[in-house]
Amino acid sequence: MFSNLLNRFGRTISFRLNLWYASIFIISACALFLFLYFLLAVAIERKDREVIEAKVKEYSTVYEAGGLLALQNRVASTPEARQQKPFFVSWVSPFNRVVVLAAPQDWISFDPKGVDRTHAFIRIPKDEERDFTLATTQLYDGSMMQVGRSTNSREAVLQPFRRIFFAVITPIVILGFIGGAFFAHRAMQPVRQVVTTARSIIDTGKLDARVPVRRSDDELDELAQLFNRMLDKNQALIKGMRESLDNVAHDLRTPLTRLRGTAEAALRGGPGAEGSQEALADCVEESDRVLTILQTLMDVAEAEAGTMKLVRTRVNFGSLLNEVIELYEYVAEEKKITVTTEFFEPCEGFVDPTRMRQVFANLLDNAIKYTGEGGKVTVQTRRENSDLVVCFRDTGMGIAAEEQEKIWDRLYRGDKSRSQRGLGLGLSLVRAIVHAHQGRVEVISEPDKGSEFRVFIPMGEA
Ligand code: ADP
Repeated sequence: MFSNLLNRFGRTISFRLNLWYASIFIISACALFLFLYFLLAVAIERKDREVIEAKVKEYSTVYEAGGLLALQNRVASTPEARQQKPFFVSWVSPFNRVVVLAAPQDWISFDPKGVDRTHAFIRIPKDEERDFTLATTQLYDGSMMQVGRSTNSREAVLQPFRRIFFAVITPIVILGFIGGAFFAHRAMQPVRQVVTTARSIIDTGKLDARVPVRRSDDELDELAQLFNRMLDKNQALIKGMRESLDNVAHDLRTPLTRLRGTAEAALRGGPGAEGSQEALADCVEESDRVLTILQTLMDVAEAEAGTMKLVRTRVNFGSLLNEVIELYEYVAEEKKITVTTEFFEPCEGFVDPTRMRQVFANLLDNAIKYTGEGGKVTVQTRRENSDLVVCFRDTGMGIAAEEQEKIWDRLYRGDKSRSQRGLGLGLSLVRAIVHAHQGRVEVISEPDKGSEFRVFIPMGEA
């Protein structure tokens, strides 16, 4: 149980962040310490060598001027030698006779003859803590002089430094982990809030939970904002779907109730009763209506999901539009609406003719439906850059600016249009089919002046 918990904790990002932070902090602190230690050690050694070099120079001059006796006197009068400081001077004759002129107690036994003379400076380890820095120089008469100094003074500085390091390393490690835990906790706060919000939505089913945004403008803040936007969209989508479902249920209920009523009345009249043929015809009409609603809904869903199969061929838009206009000739005549065409020729596109006919029929149907008696409808084709553009312009009731976004939604019907027949599915189907052709649709409209619907279809074979 405990090991399970530990295992789970070990896999959390907070723990890993903490570990990373603590490791980097501890390694950086150690590296800084070592670097300072190294700089200090080098500086002290350089200083030691400078002192020895000065001594070598001084004693060489004394030896040159007065020989071994003068050198002995000078060494004896050197404060370090007098104070029994760890200071070493020896003279070795060309025949290897050694005269130790000054040496600390524990260095008396040291044999300078065995020293490597090829290096100006060498370090001779004495015990674990101390060593000697020894300078060897050749004198003018072939003899050799060695001047040395113990590293005791260096140790006196470096040892406390090392002690301090070992004393502070434990607090550094603890500080590293505490700091790591603090920063990991702070950094993961927004992620934890996203998890809490998601969990609360899953557990309660309430879609209005949102992640608190800190407005710190960092990546995690952006994540929280994007997550909230995604939730907003999902909520709107689910709301839209529920509304659509309600609308469909409502739209289906009316024809189905009528259908049932008509069939019931016919049944009550018994077989061969007067009006039973008429009732059957009504039933067929209502069934068609229901089927149309369902088919259109399925078409829109298919096109929006990108699964609509298009059978594309090279199509002359002029001919296709003329066919559609011919279908609506009678309705237009009834309302005394003149339909004029302005076709740019040759206007050919690589499209699915059946689906394009649906697009044009819906747009022309709307243009005639929402235009009053004696109005005008113009169907125009033109080329714009790499697009074929088909416009349906009418002098009808127009669309209010705030409605122009909504008219493309499934089952949306304008308030003023309720008196007209319709399902509110035409424009959503138009847009879905045009999008399936990689095109776009737009509307320009002014209430009481008229509307213009534009369909843009990209030219080309692909
Ligand atoms: P329907 O026409 O069945 O209501 P549509 O999806 O075809 O559904 O259109 C949605 C809404 O857009 C209509 O209810 C109407 O308010 C508005 N609309 C569409 N075309 C026009 C037009 N040419 N003139 C004015 N309003 C229009």
